Amino acid sequence: MTSSVSSESAPTTNRSVQPDSNQAAMDAWLNVLQKIAPQMQRSQFITWFKNTAILGCDHTTLIVGVPFAVVRDWHVEHGKHMTLKAVQDIDPSITHITYELDGGLNDHPERCLDLLKHFPEKKPRKLPNKPEVKVAEGVVSKMLNPKYTLENFVVGVNNRLAHAACQAVSTGPGGKYNPLFLYGGVGLGKTHLLQAVGNGVVRRNPQASICYITSEEFTNQVVQAIRTNKMEQVRKRYRQVDVLIVDDIQFFAGKDRTQEEFFHTFNALYEGSKQLVISADRSPEELYLEKRLISRFERGMVADVREPDYETRLAILAEKAKEYELIIDLEVLQFIAEHTTKNVRELEGILMQAVAQYDLEERTPTIGSIAEIMTKLNKDPHQNEEEHVGFEVAPKKKATLQDVMEAVSVYYSISIDEMTGLSRVQEILKPRQVAMYIAKHRLGVSFVKLGDVFGRDHTTVINAVNKIEMQAMGNAQLMREIHALETELNLR
Ligand code: ADP
Ligand code: MG
Repeated sequence: MTSSVSSESAPTTNRSVQPDSNQAAMDAWLNVLQKIAPQMQRSQFITWFKNTAILGCDHTTLIVGVPFAVVRDWHVEHGKHMTLKAVQDIDPSITHITYELDGGLNDHPERCLDLLKHFPEKKPRKLPNKPEVKVAEGVVSKMLNPKYTLENFVVGVNNRLAHAACQAVSTGPGGKYNPLFLYGGVGLGKTHLLQAVGNGVVRRNPQASICYITSEEFTNQVVQAIRTNKMEQVRKRYRQVDVLIVDDIQFFAGKDRTQEEFFHTFNALYEGSKQLVISADRSPEELYLEKRLISRFERGMVADVREPDYETRLAILAEKAKEYELIIDLEVLQFIAEHTTKNVRELEGILMQAVAQYDLEERTPTIGSIAEIMTKLNKDPHQNEEEHVGFEVAPKKKATLQDVMEAVSVYYSISIDEMTGLSRVQEILKPRQVAMYIAKHRLGVSFVKLGDVFGRDHTTVINAVNKIEMQAMGNAQLMREIHALETELNLR
């Protein structure tokens, strides 16, 4: 049996289900949905079937009302087959489904089924669990946390190279990307990638011995081994692993004996074609470590992870909401992505709070409830002053937008009037865009507000910020200028 789906409005006449038989239509729809729900993840099911209803039946065509165009598109593309099958299980005479856009469904919840009530959550929510420490083959390793995979790591321009390198290492450890050195700021996904490499290698080769350890734990073991005179045993054990992953290696700074031990372990593994994966909060040449160690790191693959742009933040949020099985509207996710610029951990923190609210108070996240959470997390007494949405999520209120504009004005020797004026000559345009970029990324000032201050509409501001973002990636000079300004403003 085939189904044909039209995205146009269906004829409103000749429907066998009329408004007065609304209850019958709701009961019928509930029967259908009960067949569909077990086939989907609950959060997805609720997202796509919320505020849908049977509007009527035209001979053999069932007319289903959906609240938004995006929902209709999903049904046309992905849902119609499953829905038709469920419908036919109940009434085999139906051969077609037509989807009709009906915005009123949103405003009149009494016309629709309460899905949260009819389809309550059954199993406990999967929240990220903390990795446990275990002892494996005499080597103390943090257990790899299975939630970190390369598949659920969202790739954007900020982390593409790092992700690709991890992918290559996880399929061919000890190959050409050895050692692999990842660096970048806090909460940008280094640990996720490191653990994902470990998980990827184990998945392909369950016999492989993987050691994931933080530099502090490695240091503790060296100290302990020296104290108990067991250095030789520790050395031997480390040299048996196939993949050694050391997280946050910047903490080796000032620990000479640890660096010495690590250097020898590194060499032994490297020469045995074993894989080394290392992370740090800065690039190799900026680490306060022995030169010979640094030069070993530089010999391999070095990749950075930077702060995600708006689109990547949104994609990460969508991925996390799916993982946590949190039902949340796209526009709420867009709101979070727009107002959070610092790092991914912060994004996650907001979602986790939303999950808690949802679990404890059955509050489905809205822009308002998220704004409350962000205000609470941000703990900034001035945050209510600036935005029409009632708050401004600035990471730290060290510098203000005015400070940024002044610093940029001094740095590039242009006046504030020129910065906010109409001139499009390069000497003015670039500083203007840099000021917008810093204000957006470091202060979290909204595009709308920047538009007001710079006398432009907010899409012009979005384009300006994106332009600087793109240019900075391939332009070391511009990157340095931005860094210098941010450092001066105490924003780094
Ligand atoms: P770091 O080690 O760089 O401080 P983490 O790896 O601990 O950062 O990342 C913080 C959180 O953000 C983790 O829960 C991680 O899963 C998540 N995260 C960071 N970047 C991404 C990404 N691109 N896709 C999915 N999750 C991410
Ligand atoms: Mg980390």
